[in-house]
Amino acid sequence: MKPDNYKIAAWPSFLHAKCPRCRRGKLFANSMYGFEGQKMNNTCGHCHLTFEIEPGYFYVAMFVSYAMNVAEFITAAGAINVLTGSSNPWIYVTVILAVSLSLSPFNFRYSRVILLYWLTPGLHYHPELSKDNNVGNPQ
Ligand SMILES: [Zn+2]
Repeated sequence: MKPDNYKIAAWPSFLHAKCPRCRRGKLFANSMYGFEGQKMNNTCGHCHLTFEIEPGYFYVAMFVSYAMNVAEFITAAGAINVLTGSSNPWIYVTVILAVSLSLSPFNFRYSRVILLYWLTPGLHYHPELSKDNNVGNPQ
């Protein structure tokens, strides 16, 4: 078996919110849209990476979430303008609030995933940790 045979692609593991280092363990313990809220795992179940790299690390995800919200607001406002052509501000306020509330679980989850995948220096994919018989921790 070649060493590259156990590599896992980045985008599917990003979309399924897997660990950024081994791409096997789950970042979140439950589903995105549920009544009990989202619960993030403290460590990766596969490679034992601690997801909160330092205390308060996920405060940075607020900035990512803010950028995602702005992009969603602009998209919703553009869609209202194109679809209705209305200049009534209450249509914009109502639809943008509904979009913001309905996408807040999505923003919460993927702001953290984006932070861990692309905005954390020194955290990279280690293909050797994707193997089934992984017991080590390179840190
Ligand atoms: Zn992992």
